[in-house]
Amino acid sequence: MTTPAALTPLVRDRALALPADELPAYLYDLVALREHAAFVRSALPERVELYYAAKANPEAEILTALAPYVDGYEVSSGGELAHVRTAFPGRPLAFGGPGKTPAEIESALRLGVERFHVESAYELRMLADLVASRSTSGTRVRVLLRLNLPLAEESLEASALAMGGRPTPFGLDPSQADDMVRLLTDGTYPQLELRGIHAHLASGLAAPEQLAVAESIVTWASKLAARHGIPLREVNVGGGMTVDYARPDARFDWAAYGAGLARLTAAHPGLLLRIEPGRALTAYCGWYATEVLDVKHSHGEDFAIVRGGTHHLRTPATKGHDQPCAVLPVDAWPHPWPRSTSRHGPVTLAGQLCTPKDVLARRVPAEGLRAGDRVVFALAGAYAWNISHHDFLMHPRPGFHFLAGDEDA
Ligand SMILES: *Cc1c(COP(=O)(O)O)cnc(C)c1O
Repeated sequence: MTTPAALTPLVRDRALALPADELPAYLYDLVALREHAAFVRSALPERVELYYAAKANPEAEILTALAPYVDGYEVSSGGELAHVRTAFPGRPLAFGGPGKTPAEIESALRLGVERFHVESAYELRMLADLVASRSTSGTRVRVLLRLNLPLAEESLEASALAMGGRPTPFGLDPSQADDMVRLLTDGTYPQLELRGIHAHLASGLAAPEQLAVAESIVTWASKLAARHGIPLREVNVGGGMTVDYARPDARFDWAAYGAGLARLTAAHPGLLLRIEPGRALTAYCGWYATEVLDVKHSHGEDFAIVRGGTHHLRTPATKGHDQPCAVLPVDAWPHPWPRSTSRHGPVTLAGQLCTPKDVLARRVPAEGLRAGDRVVFALAGAYAWNISHHDFLMHPRPGFHFLAGDEDA
């Protein structure tokens, strides 16, 4: 059963004020986003940098709202790279992702990307050659080696999406780490500077598991550095802080996480830690507001069809969950025909697509739901619009509203 979500005042007001034919719409509460980001920032100790993983939601307004609270952005494609660099010329970027093309690397070099997260031996060689072939010689290009380190069994089980700790296309196998460090320290690639280690191993972990993962990455990296007699300057322990879609009011325990990271930096003087969350920063600020088009009873169950669907908000379909939502009753009814109404029990909320997969939330406690009522889906600020298959069935695109109170963008 779907959990009801509490709306922020800005979102509630706009969801009710928009005319029906301007729905569905994505509503982003930038005030709530800034408050949340400020809270996350304040929970992090010194020597811990916060990067935002742009792939969670790369809307320019979102990136801008986050800017005062983050130290930089993690980008994972040439497209994200150009987009974020243009929006924030001065902010540090870390360029990650498997399968970087030569053209993407060249553009990253041209744009002066501050950190490359290198994912394979082949990529390291390509990067070294592309740096060497540039006419402008000068500062060395900074590299972090992305490693697919082993994950503790508990972390693997707790994780919704494991990018590491088992066979995956991401990062370097740990057995290759020593060879890669040698290449970067024995003068083979003088144009590259090894800054440290990067690992993004799992998504959906709560603070205690995240801390255990961070500790094991740092321990592993410091042993690697010690074997080669080099200082360990930077470790990026990735993102993946959990967002609990069944408990929309819960939050990742940033205070406990920050306290744990403080212990970790205290144990490693001179080390700069970095985290790069996406989902847990922006999921809470986004809402997908829509209107009930029809309500029907089918084989013993109630269904409501809403404007839009999973082609706009694919998250519940990809993650296999019910998107938390709030119902806003609308009493005005402009039509001569009577409203269709749910009489029975919980209502399953489906979209307009002609596929049984187009379900946003099952068995929502919304007795009495009527055509014309509004429904607002929560936790739609990350991996929502930007992962959706917008063109399927050629329905119109949603509206986008960036709410900031008086001075709305
Ligand atoms: C996707 C991704 C992130 C962000 O993950 P979240 O689960 O959104 O926090 C961080 N780093 C890398 C390398 C990623 O691929």
